Amino acid sequence: MESIRAYRFRVYPDDVRRREIDEQIELARFLYNKLLGRAKEEYLKDRNLQITKSTFNRFMKEIIEKNGELNRLYSQALQNVFVRLQRAYQNFFRRVREKRSGKRIKVGFPRFKKYGRYSSITYPQFGFSIESKTKRHNRIDVLRVSKIGTMRMEMHREISGKILTLTIKRDGDEYYAVISASSELTSTRTDDINPVGIDLGLMNSDNIMENFAVLSDGKRIRKPDFAGMREKRISHWQRVVARRQKGSGRREKAREKLHDAWRKVNNQNDDFARKAANTLVGSGYTSFAVEALHIPNMLKNHRLARSINSAAWNRFIQVLSYKAEDAGMRVIQVDPRYTTRRCSACGTDREMPLGERTYLCAACGLRTDRDINAARNILHRSTAGHAGIEARGDPASLHPETDAKAGPSKREHTFGPGSLDLKGSPGL
Ligand SMILES: [Zn+2]
Repeated sequence: MESIRAYRFRVYPDDVRRREIDEQIELARFLYNKLLGRAKEEYLKDRNLQITKSTFNRFMKEIIEKNGELNRLYSQALQNVFVRLQRAYQNFFRRVREKRSGKRIKVGFPRFKKYGRYSSITYPQFGFSIESKTKRHNRIDVLRVSKIGTMRMEMHREISGKILTLTIKRDGDEYYAVISASSELTSTRTDDINPVGIDLGLMNSDNIMENFAVLSDGKRIRKPDFAGMREKRISHWQRVVARRQKGSGRREKAREKLHDAWRKVNNQNDDFARKAANTLVGSGYTSFAVEALHIPNMLKNHRLARSINSAAWNRFIQVLSYKAEDAGMRVIQVDPRYTTRRCSACGTDREMPLGERTYLCAACGLRTDRDINAARNILHRSTAGHAGIEARGDPASLHPETDAKAGPSKREHTFGPGSLDLKGSPGL
């Protein structure tokens, strides 16, 4: 079955492009209203007349001839005005028919669009593209739109399937790109019978990350030490850039080298994220609870190895989110506070110094691995969220009582020593 899905991403046009988009929207709205007015004239003459495509086309030409400013409307956006009007018109006549056949519905002629009620322009398949660049440590997605130019796009998930249209939408003073794509799908929502919590690995004092992630059932995801391997290269080029004179060609060259090094890290992260997400989605779990990462804090992190790893985590959560969604599963982000310090069995808090590998609870006697304890807390918070509250940042989910109730009993606390084998994961 083919399904069409819309992806909505925030975009950040600069002032010039903003004005350009606003003007295009207003021109499109103007044309829409003019065309509708013309169609209404015909309708009032003969209420049974359905206007054909070629008649609409003729009207459009007449209107553009009379209103020279419409020549500034891009041809792609112009075609879409036509599509929208036709759709409104067809709906109208369908409802008229339904009413005649006895349905009790109100039927009104399509309305003129006031300012703000027509706030987007649409490009067909051609006329735009999406590009990815690497800037500083991060992948930057850029939307390139013909005639308008480029703008940064916050692309929080990948688009699957064939891209059909782009709509640029103004919402207050924010702008969004809505991209529609069709793909062969679609799985139905999986029953959430086997949720799992994921604790993302921390680095020890030697900046080595032992596990990329630890699951609440005790499984571990290991990650090759990309950071360590690339760190030297990156820090080398960082020093070179800093040393060379601003604006010099030699500095520019060094900056390119630095970009290359980051790009390699990001590509490896992407690759790893896909493998790990595929493995997880195919491992029999039915939903995933993860910590909500606070990206601003992480970017402040000047430790190179750490920023490499936080980039990897972000990417992983992103990829896991869309892979899970495609499989009909949810990824729930929960408040990350106290997941390490709290006992996942009874909810008591204790200090957990970084070097302490085992969580030992004085109150209830729980003894378990530090990371597994954290992963279980993460899982509890997400199941608290299932009860009807949004898991992310919800203060109620921090209450030990809530957590403890949703949690497993003490007897269940055993180690699952297995680790997930990423090599066997399905295609990238
Ligand atoms: Zn306890």
